[in-house]
Amino acid sequence: MGKTSKDKRDIFYRLAKEEGWRARSAFKLKQINEVFDILNEVTRVVDLCAAPGSWSQVLSKEIYEPNPKKEDVKIIAVDLQPMAPLPGVIQLQGDITKLETAEAIINHFGEGKKAQLVICDGAPDVTGLHDIDEYIQAQLLLAALNITTHVLSRSGTFVAKIFRGKDTSLLHSQLSIFFKKVAIAKPASSRNSSIEAFVVCQDYQPPDGYIPQKINPMVDDIEIIANETGSEVNRQIIPFIVCGDLRGYDSDMSYPLDKKYVHLEPVQKPIDPAYKNVLERLSQISLKHEGISIEKK
Ligand code: SAM
Repeated sequence: MGKTSKDKRDIFYRLAKEEGWRARSAFKLKQINEVFDILNEVTRVVDLCAAPGSWSQVLSKEIYEPNPKKEDVKIIAVDLQPMAPLPGVIQLQGDITKLETAEAIINHFGEGKKAQLVICDGAPDVTGLHDIDEYIQAQLLLAALNITTHVLSRSGTFVAKIFRGKDTSLLHSQLSIFFKKVAIAKPASSRNSSIEAFVVCQDYQPPDGYIPQKINPMVDDIEIIANETGSEVNRQIIPFIVCGDLRGYDSDMSYPLDKKYVHLEPVQKPIDPAYKNVLERLSQISLKHEGISIEKK
């Protein structure tokens, strides 16, 4: 493949280089901002899963550079990977699903003012197995939301990448517990062929009595934590739990029959099934119309 082939195929990849963005993702945040105005009057932001740093670049240019009171601006960027420095951006290297990373971020906002915006463009290495990718993406989202509940001020905004799948409506309902407005956005710069989209959650209003927990979303049992807090509200926030071994049978797949397979009748056939009348009528019709044979089982 020639050097210019990706430039030809991907206009946003090309534009990113021309305009000096570290990644084409910069356009996704800019386009989300055009519609939802998420950067308006914001000075304190957390950028989760930030490397190589194009979203942080947007934050630096839009929030830090024009602000005459630089000391009021706080932009914290976190990623597993190291990132080249950016003006006005504090970097933390760590895994957002780990308690110690969450604590390091929370400590930045501990005593002082909270963040007005948390953004997360986190993506695991895609396996190509849709369910697994969606599941891992959901874990990243859960980790990001967990951090958000500690550092986001009331009425703040949370934006995060999701993989659209069968659980998108459930996700929407769960986020609506914490935010008054939840939308799912697909920026024009995000390829149509990609299942990627972004939740844009505005007006953070956690339920009365909700106590943010420092949990490790990958391992902690959310129900036990809810019980330990003694908070009725924490208990009511229903966790979505995948049961069974992900390496086992997939209920959406068909599996070829073994050569030695012997058909077995159902253990107990329905005694009075709803389709019984239909079967009887069909057999009468087949008797009336010779030549049309409908087998009666
Ligand atoms: N928004 C970034 C930008 O504009 O440059 C691009 C983010 S890139 C699509 C996804 C990032 O998620 C990668 O840099 C990856 O290291 C990071 N990531 C994935 N899992 C993570 C985790 N558990 N903790 C922290 N970062 C993670």
